[in-house]
Amino acid sequence: MSSFAVNSPPAAVRSSFPFSPSPTPRTPRVFNMAVRSGVSTAALPILRKLQSDCATPLPVLRHVADAMAADMRAGLVVDGGSDLKMILSYVDSLPTGNERGLFYALDLGGTNFRVLRTQLGGKDDRVIATEFDQVTIPQDLMFGTSEELFDFIASALAKFVKKEGGEFVLPDGRSRETGFTFSFPVRQTSIDSGILIKWTKGFAVSGTPGKDVVACLNEAMKRQGLDMRVSALVNDTVATLAGARYWDNDVMVAVILGTGTNACYVESVDAIPKLNGQKATSGRTIVNTEWGAFSNGLPLTEFDRDMDAESINPGEQLFEKTISGMYLGEIVRRILVRMAESGSLFGKHVPERLLTPFTFGTPIISSMQQDTSKDLEVVGSILYEAMGVDSNLDARKMVVEVCDTIAKRGGRLAGAGIVGILQKMEEDSKGIVFGKRTVVAMDGGLYEHHHQYKRYLKDAVTELLGPELSSNVVIEHSKDGSGIGAALLAATNSIYEH
Ligand code: ADP
Ligand code: MG
Repeated sequence: MSSFAVNSPPAAVRSSFPFSPSPTPRTPRVFNMAVRSGVSTAALPILRKLQSDCATPLPVLRHVADAMAADMRAGLVVDGGSDLKMILSYVDSLPTGNERGLFYALDLGGTNFRVLRTQLGGKDDRVIATEFDQVTIPQDLMFGTSEELFDFIASALAKFVKKEGGEFVLPDGRSRETGFTFSFPVRQTSIDSGILIKWTKGFAVSGTPGKDVVACLNEAMKRQGLDMRVSALVNDTVATLAGARYWDNDVMVAVILGTGTNACYVESVDAIPKLNGQKATSGRTIVNTEWGAFSNGLPLTEFDRDMDAESINPGEQLFEKTISGMYLGEIVRRILVRMAESGSLFGKHVPERLLTPFTFGTPIISSMQQDTSKDLEVVGSILYEAMGVDSNLDARKMVVEVCDTIAKRGGRLAGAGIVGILQKMEEDSKGIVFGKRTVVAMDGGLYEHHHQYKRYLKDAVTELLGPELSSNVVIEHSKDGSGIGAALLAATNSIYEH
């Protein structure tokens, strides 16, 4: 495990953010500002049409919120009843703060996986100590066999466990327990088992689909001679909710806005007809909405439709494709290609590099939107570095307008989705949300770093709820809460008493 990077952001985030967000470019560059004028003549109608197709006035937001609530309800009646899968998490006891002892968490959700240990000291001492490490999954293992992948994970985990010491203590006679955050589609069968439906995000490991991923991990840990058991299998949204709830009892919803997007919330078991009488003892359970699949009434453009048609999952995950980090930059790129083809953005030629899909990342659009310099120097520098084009001020302004249009639509629709969830909760149990303080825990690189997006999201929530109700709704960034959240869920689902 050579690539331990304690406390540093995932490599993927670092490498996808090559540009300085500061208002001055790293290397001063002289721009060729005099080549063209009248940039906007042909690009302007494209921009105007885009802005009207992407518009999210209050009635559109309201429709999305209502449709989200209706789709949630339909998905709770029967599996397959709606775009939203409304997956039962089997998490029906949330952290209270009383948890004590040593717990681990393992997070596999992309090209990195993270391991974490925490020593919990109960109500008074809370989190006594936490340590974590991050490991990159070698490319070949993403295409190998299930045993190879899980052996790699278990061996990295075993090395991490070997370094346990200091404030971390396991009582005699106990096995270590871990939470397992696994962010791939799983059919959960209990709190500590779930069948992998299919690999996504570039993984094509043979032999895992159809199998219980907890059993795969347990067997690999046994092969490594590691005495550890998985007490809770959860997805990252559920872990985020648990992590935030540990500090704040009013957390009822968690939303991830990163590469992809998802949301979960605390639901009353009486509102879940598809449970068929299997009732959680607490009367409440966390439901994972899988809201990325929502599609009803979204203001989509031809650029969205083209991107969707060329994607690996056409027709699927439309909400995710409209609001999440993986796609915002790509939508902007497609619009800029159209403007460039009209010959009115970067001179006669369409810049070669602009033609490659997914070269224009969402971090790029957010740094351009954060450029406050008079001449939009950061925008100029980014366009030069990312696409090799010299741009004049008119072109830079146009590019920023396009970025803003797409970020605004995304942020406002995400806000409408959140209101849809709150509305659904309130309609089914009066007073559960709107009569009191309610916290929505947010995490993910897009929400964390894209300041305009975050503002648009909050504005939409306020517009929809009005000043009075929205003053009770607190949208809070719960940074990396999912790691500790998974460890806490291992604690609340421990086989030992605490
Ligand atoms: P993941 O969703 O892959 O688990 P993160 O929550 O860290 O990981 O989110 C990473 C995503 O966040 C990136 O794919 C990117 O879309 C988005 N992102 C990262 N940095 C920024 C930024 N500066 N501005 C806007 N979006 C960003
Ligand atoms: Mg994540």
